[in-house]
Parts: sequence; C-alpha cells; structure tokens
Amino acid sequence: MTTTPDTIVIRNGTVIDGSGAPARRNDAIVVAGNRIKHIGALPPDVALDDRRNVAVIDAAGQWIMPGLIDAHCHVSYGYPVIKGEGKGRGTTRPEFSTLKAAHSVQRVLRSGVTGISVPGGTWFTDVGVRDAIKLGLMEGPRMYVAGRMIVTYGCIEDDEPSWEGTPDHSIGKLCNTADEMVTEVRRQGKHGVNFIKMADSRSGESQMLAKEEIAAVVAEAHRRNLRVGIHSRGAGSTRAAAEAGVDWIIHADLATDRDLEAVAKAGMPIIPTATFLAMVVELGAKVGAAQVQLDINRMKRHFEALCQLMHKARKLGIKLLVGTDTGNNTFMRYGEIHAKELEIFVKYGGYAPLEAITAATRDNACAIGLQGQVGELAPGKLADLIVLDRDPLADITVLQGGKHLTHVIKDGKLVDLAPREEMLTFREAAE
Ligand SMILES: [Zn+2]
Repeated sequence: MTTTPDTIVIRNGTVIDGSGAPARRNDAIVVAGNRIKHIGALPPDVALDDRRNVAVIDAAGQWIMPGLIDAHCHVSYGYPVIKGEGKGRGTTRPEFSTLKAAHSVQRVLRSGVTGISVPGGTWFTDVGVRDAIKLGLMEGPRMYVAGRMIVTYGCIEDDEPSWEGTPDHSIGKLCNTADEMVTEVRRQGKHGVNFIKMADSRSGESQMLAKEEIAAVVAEAHRRNLRVGIHSRGAGSTRAAAEAGVDWIIHADLATDRDLEAVAKAGMPIIPTATFLAMVVELGAKVGAAQVQLDINRMKRHFEALCQLMHKARKLGIKLLVGTDTGNNTFMRYGEIHAKELEIFVKYGGYAPLEAITAATRDNACAIGLQGQVGELAPGKLADLIVLDRDPLADITVLQGGKHLTHVIKDGKLVDLAPREEMLTFREAAE
C-alpha cells in the first residue's frame, strides 16, 4: 500500500466539484488526513517545500472531480465455473470467491471508482471484503453491501426446483412469508450488512412480493439502521416498493406513469442500471444472440423503457442514481464500464454531462451511506477525488476504464496506479 504524506496539495487544474456548479479554474485543493481542508487560493500556512509531510500534485491543464461511485456493482457472484464444482451460478466456493472479489475491487478503485454499492452476492463475502479494506488489509473502494437477496418462489435468483430451494451458495434467499423475511433481515444484520436487498421477478412480468411483505422488511431493517433496496422491473412491484418506503428502487423500467408518481410522492431514488442491458445488446450484435444466452430483444425493450424513464423521472422530480451491474456476468468487467451509465444518461436520457457527473458523485453518495460526506469537493468532505488529463464535460466517455486518470485519491491517500494496466487486462478464466 502506498504511504502518502499527511497533506496533499493539488495545484492548478479545473475543478468539477460534484455539486452541479459549473467547472472552474482553481489554485489549490488541500487534503489533510482523510478530509478536504481547503479549496481556492493556496493558504499561506501550507509549506509546499516540506516534502516529508506535503505531497504536491501539479494538475495544470487537467480536471479534478470527486471519485466516481457505482451504485450497483456485484463483487461475489459465483463465476468462473471451476472444474469439479457444481455448475450453478453461485456454486463457486467461498474461499476462491473472496480472493476474486478482493482482486476485483482493486481494479474498480484504479479505474477512478472510490465507492460502490453492492446489492447482493454470495455468502457474506462482500461484508468480509468491505471490512478488509476498512481495516487496511488492502486497498479498495468504499463498499456499502447487502447480503443474499430476499426472494419468494419464482423471483429472480430462485433458480432451483422447490425441493432444493435456495442452497447456501445461492445469491437468493427464499423467504415465503413476512415472518421469514424479518428473520432473514435480523440474520443478515447480525453478520454486518449495510442494507437489505429484496428482489421481485426477473423481468417484471408479474408481481411476486406483496406490499405488506416489503413493508415488514423495511420496518425491521430501518429499526436496525439498515437500508433497503429492491430489484423491481415491474409496475406493481415498483408501486408497492414505493408505498412500502424502500430506500431505493433498482430498474423500475416497466413502471407506469401512475407508479412513477407514487415513487415521486414517496421520494426515493431509482437506479435504472441501463449499462447491463446496453452491454448485452452490444455483445449480442458482436458474437450472435445464441452465444449470449440472454433474450436480446427483451433486453432492447427494457433498455428503451429505461431511456424513457430517465426523461419521465426528470419531469416528476425523481432522483436517478448511477449504477451499472458490473460483476453480474463475466462480460461485465471490473474497472471498465463503471462510467458507461453516465454516457447513457447523456446520450439517451437527456442529461447534460455535468448533471450526469453530479448524479454519479453527490447524488450517488446516498447509495453508499455517505450522503453529504462524499461525492463533492468542499472543505470538510471526505477526500475521495480523481484527476483526469481530459475534460469529461467535453466528452463524458473519458471517464470510462480509467484511461485518462492521472491520480486517484481515496480517503486522503494516493492510490498507486502502476498495477492498473496489468489488472485491467486480466481476463476471467471463465467457461
Ligand atoms: Zn444487480
């Protein structure tokens, strides 16, 4: 791990502060410990020549902004399939899964993503990886994690026949009554999750969680200071989730105008997650639909619905967060596509580049439980920031894959970007 002097001063450069304010030329950003101390003219008490205690970065001709946050990134889905193990998606054994997750999150951080929200995985792998980063065992982004998704019969991630149920290695956890759900909330809370992930049907074709069940989970989770996120593509489930008071809704693509009005009234954000759909469609065009093993036409329809949702949300005043579903499949590679959602917001959702950046920084902070503390460059905020050699406001795609990063600072520490090339070219030994 890189050791850095206690104070970092970034001289010059153009600041995009994440608040939505226009970009501006800046003289100095002073980071002291893990917080931003000052932005503006260089304060007289900073000794730039004290090289032992002060690191100086010259960002002349560069752009400085908050570290990106991916509000939807999985790190412990069970792949690749390893010889001698079962073929189910979650069967990869936890020892291997943990090491893979530990490796993956470093690629995430080195692509300029300093925070991720992890809505579901296998075992309590994500809790372990989060804690290892927190305790300084390794570098990685801030992680805010759920456990296995709470599902009923027929929901997404209930993939085995009923006589098998959801085995311990699954991503889903069957709970067919509100009581069972509450027990699972308590169990996951005991093991240290930050939020509970519920999940309705895979494609939204029918509603599979009752409003009362969602409300029971929300009440128990909130009592224990846990948040609740829900996978909901459907109309009924989105409305029920809104009325039950979940903290955020993932997808919501099939919601009707009336359902969206219920979301607007309840005031929670939506994480559309169009990136996964875009990746499936792109991959299908490249390698052929049969290879992808996913219904590409259906994915296209969902993608178009999400683009419409982006426009509708603006009219209704619904906040949208920026998430990608990185890690949910072998082709959703760590460190490569976390900023693709911003491109989609701009290209198809009617967002200005500055608005997309604000959504992926200041607004996304709530998906990692740090609303008002990260995602903005201002005195007193936690020091998560990135420096780029190209202007993301002129071309939002320069944020993708970390290719234009010159520096990443997370929690006041400079991240060594040297291993990045090697890590980014790593390929999953899948299939
Ligand atoms: Zn997901």
